[in-house]
Amino acid sequence: MATNGPGRTPTTARAAPGPRAARLAVHDPATGEAFGEAPDQHPDELDAVVTRAHRAWRSWREDPAARTAALLAAADAVEAAGTDLAPLLTREQGKPLAESYAEVTRTAARLRYFAALAPGPRPITDGRPVDSEIHWRPLGPVAAIVPWNFPLQLASAKFAPALAAGNTMVLKPSPLTPLATRLLGSVLSTALPRDVLTVVTGREPLGARLAAHPGIRHVTFTGSVPTGRAVARGAATSLARVTLELGGNDAAILLEDTDVEQIADRLFWAAFHNCGQVCMAVKRVYAPARLYPQVVEALAQRARDTVVGPGLDPGTRLGPVNNAPQLARVEHYTARALADGARIAAGGHRPKRPGHFHAPTILADVPPGSPVVTQEQFGPVLPVLPYTRLDEAVEAANGTGFGLGGSVWGTDLDRAQEVAGQLECGTAWINHHAELSLAQPFAGTKDSGVGVAGGPWGLYGNLRPFVVHRPRTA
Ligand code: NAD
Repeated sequence: MATNGPGRTPTTARAAPGPRAARLAVHDPATGEAFGEAPDQHPDELDAVVTRAHRAWRSWREDPAARTAALLAAADAVEAAGTDLAPLLTREQGKPLAESYAEVTRTAARLRYFAALAPGPRPITDGRPVDSEIHWRPLGPVAAIVPWNFPLQLASAKFAPALAAGNTMVLKPSPLTPLATRLLGSVLSTALPRDVLTVVTGREPLGARLAAHPGIRHVTFTGSVPTGRAVARGAATSLARVTLELGGNDAAILLEDTDVEQIADRLFWAAFHNCGQVCMAVKRVYAPARLYPQVVEALAQRARDTVVGPGLDPGTRLGPVNNAPQLARVEHYTARALADGARIAAGGHRPKRPGHFHAPTILADVPPGSPVVTQEQFGPVLPVLPYTRLDEAVEAANGTGFGLGGSVWGTDLDRAQEVAGQLECGTAWINHHAELSLAQPFAGTKDSGVGVAGGPWGLYGNLRPFVVHRPRTA
């Protein structure tokens, strides 16, 4: 198998030049101004892209050792390009520069992790006089569709396992954040054979057409619940496998023995990291009535102390919200909570500056039925609710349609783990939140997802079993 070798100079992402010269303007959320553009590809271009991905698959699937070498070279190339990738990511996404570097590092780490995972044939031993063996085979071209909150990291969560398993991929970033992903595509093209990974960019219906394309054998999607349903409907037309990583409304339950000052920083940043635009952020806090005033004030104090500003400013801890509709959603939920009787303990306003900034906001006394509690706000606003009986807090935590993550906080870790075991979600944390290992399965329940990503399970999600039976001769 011919690889291009890690030494090749990056050119442009392998987005096929189309008949239409339409462009997609990309805005800097710290200013609201357009600063770059990407191709706005016509969905008809997908036929040629998928055909090339299918052709590339024929050789890519054949040689696991060459794949491993190419993926390791790709990881090195990504790391070496960090100083180009990270500032561009901050520019279009808004996050502090250090967090963009963390996305680059995670992308390289994920490539290395999956490069080392190769499932060999396994015997089936069930006492019958036949030798049966399970082999794992790749599926074919995989479509990946990702959102704007972690463009590189979420893309790598798709392409690292899919390519390691021997598939090829067509990757579509959000039209709000196409630039760093296109650059990443260029960087990866220095290490991967041609057409193994193709980045396509454009407005809808590009994603819808990709999800429903008859040449795609697996659609792996990360985004909102309604779009996930649309993607699943589209993929049903060709019966492609579907993996959906969807929204979350994670609850953090504080127990009576919580040392509030000790956990307050961690709890605050579990909610406000990436400006709250994290699927598995803490999106609501339940505190025992006795601790409630202290919890509200500890979080409010941290909100007031947080430096909000452009992600490229060295002192910034919290950047802008990524886009105007998302900011409008955050403001709408806040206004609705206030109308429902909540009060603002900190924040609640837009700083006086251009761009999509919103002060980190702590909402107290929020009625449990207010949409900021029952829906996913996906922004820098956190409702804090009191409880008197723990079973009611657990019931409330489980009482939405989401089931991504949850956390329990307290001093007695056994007790905390016992309560965590009652959460209906895919991942539960104790005294922290939203930390994931590359080696763990990541899967939401209920409306938060279908299928499993992460670890060996993520690899198998991109493979199909092929079983050989033969009579035993000796
Ligand atoms: P979104 O669903 O609006 O868009 C996600 C992607 O789908 C984008 O690339 C978009 O262009 C594309 N898309 C839009 N309409 C489509 C269609 N009809 N068919 C195919 N693709 C289409 O989500 P968003 O606003 O970009 O991202 C925020 C959401 O993502 C939140 O709900 C968040 O919780 C979720 N999310 C989940 C995870 C997870 O791992 N569970 C991780 C990050 C974000």
